[in-house]
Amino acid sequence: MAEKTIIKNISIVNEGQILIADLLIVDGLIQKIGKVTDDKSFSLIDGTGKYLFPGIIDGQVHFRDPGLTHKGDLYTESKAAIAGGVTSFIDMPNTYPNVLSIDLLNEKYKLASEKSLANFGFFLGVNGDNLEQVIHTDTSQLLGLSDDGLYFTKKGNLLADNPDIMERLFANCKSIIAIHSEKEQIVEENELFYKEKFGEDIPIEYHPVIRSEKACYEATKRAIEIAKKYHARLHILHLTTEAETHLFRNDIPLNEKRITTEVSVHHLWFSDQDYKRLGPLIKWNPAIKTEKDRVGLLKALIDNKIDIVTTDHAPHTLEEKEKPYFQSMSGAPIVQHSLNIMLEFYKQGLISLEKIAEKMCHNPAILYRIKKRGYIREGYFADLTIVDLNSRWTVDKGNILSKCGWSPLEGTTFQTKVTHTFVNGHLVFNQGKFDESERGQQLKNIY
Ligand SMILES: [Zn+2]
Repeated sequence: MAEKTIIKNISIVNEGQILIADLLIVDGLIQKIGKVTDDKSFSLIDGTGKYLFPGIIDGQVHFRDPGLTHKGDLYTESKAAIAGGVTSFIDMPNTYPNVLSIDLLNEKYKLASEKSLANFGFFLGVNGDNLEQVIHTDTSQLLGLSDDGLYFTKKGNLLADNPDIMERLFANCKSIIAIHSEKEQIVEENELFYKEKFGEDIPIEYHPVIRSEKACYEATKRAIEIAKKYHARLHILHLTTEAETHLFRNDIPLNEKRITTEVSVHHLWFSDQDYKRLGPLIKWNPAIKTEKDRVGLLKALIDNKIDIVTTDHAPHTLEEKEKPYFQSMSGAPIVQHSLNIMLEFYKQGLISLEKIAEKMCHNPAILYRIKKRGYIREGYFADLTIVDLNSRWTVDKGNILSKCGWSPLEGTTFQTKVTHTFVNGHLVFNQGKFDESERGQQLKNIY
């Protein structure tokens, strides 16, 4: 029987406004927004006093599947995502084997269709090793290409470090190329300097000095210059410095931009003042930088120089994190808490609910040309998130769903809570309980 649900009397946050209405979901789609009459055959959710967002689309995650499933997998991490209101994700190619061919990409889609509770999309990996194959592949139907995380497999794999590879790729490929932007050469010089000073165990607070503003800024500036030369479609992943935000435009709409960027929630939430308290748990690449950078990134997000919010969700075991500087893995789990973090900024009066929906739902759909998702519109997929804006709870080991079982946010009290998450009209998350009877769908793009 068709699944039919009515959400009554809810504040709908969508396309720059908030409207109180009912919403009817039939067969996975939003059938009607407005006044809906009750019918006994429908499941009913009373939305009075609550807010409805389009399901969050997270444009950058590392769910570790296949190959690194001791850290996380498509089932556990998609479950964590859904508890945080995320209904769709795009996963990076640094799983094992690295996703450097269409065959491996298709295998990953197949795996996700069996395991993922949320909707899924995957980047095709690109680096020096598969450059010629990528250039000769029709990539127009892919969500995008990325080199993110591939540098962990082999040094020298960052596109941002290889102008010759960027030139050849940007000249020949018109699909989205999403890059991790740091100049490895500058990072290595800094590593050497601090290694001489401290030996192997460099204090973690030097991480943003080693993975410096200069390393980020110079890489981003050069990548943008080369992209402009070829009118390429460049996306700079996880921006971390205020300086870089000035390299991006806000005078044209997103769908006309050829150069776009994002910020990951942890770079809005933490600053270098947190290294003393949290140590390697907040070691990320690119690094968490200064308080000035944190404030500048939030400003650039609101000013539309930054287009979307992502998580770069990257689980590692605690054992892999709590090691001396050079051995400690970079990255942390955060997909379950991205909406809570953004809503905390709303509570502080720093951002509107409408802007949060724009940056986490609408804009990822525009940027990655995702079909019929990212908005609350009749005829669109019913990917929906209900939040209670007045419900306090504290992150602790008992409520973390990522397989690795820890979070840099442990002990943090949020003032808002995700209560329900629908994926394709199916109520997967209902006040803490999961219905795992269905799987998410592959994200399709408009090309
Ligand atoms: Zn990443």
